[in-house]
Amino acid sequence: MSLDGTYDQGNIFAKILRGEAPCARVFEDEHVFAFMDVFPQGRGHTLVIPKHSTARNLLDEEPAVLSPLILGVQRVARAVRAALQPDGLVVTQFNGAASGQTVYHLHFHIIPRWEGVALKGHGVGGMADMGELKALADQIAANIS
Ligand code: 5GP
Repeated sequence: MSLDGTYDQGNIFAKILRGEAPCARVFEDEHVFAFMDVFPQGRGHTLVIPKHSTARNLLDEEPAVLSPLILGVQRVARAVRAALQPDGLVVTQFNGAASGQTVYHLHFHIIPRWEGVALKGHGVGGMADMGELKALADQIAANIS
């Protein structure tokens, strides 16, 4: 059901893009915006979203938006790696409530992984401290190339 529907301009990521809601910003260019997930599944959990889009999910998105978006995901993932030196990186993207999607503005998750450190469940972690998220965001931002 939620694979179909109308884009809601009041969704939290649209508010963040308009500067109406706070976030720990990592990076932006003309195409993409990256910021820390406030309910992280692990240290350094970062989200990358298209700036000029009304796609609720991957299936809705225009090819012209997807191309720079995935390049932005790679760029931010490389910065996360350089900043935090994880053993691995998970990149995920959910489509529809049945898949686990909770915010209906297309986004990619970048989640660093370390050997022996369990991933917290999707959407079940507690809210992170904004000061810690801003410090992580600055660390990642310093490694954008
Ligand atoms: P989804 O479940 O749609 O794949 O991912 C949405 C993500 O947005 C979740 O990981 C959730 O923790 C995160 N999130 C929800 N509300 C906020 C918010 O207000 N600020 C930030 N930075 N992340 C949020």
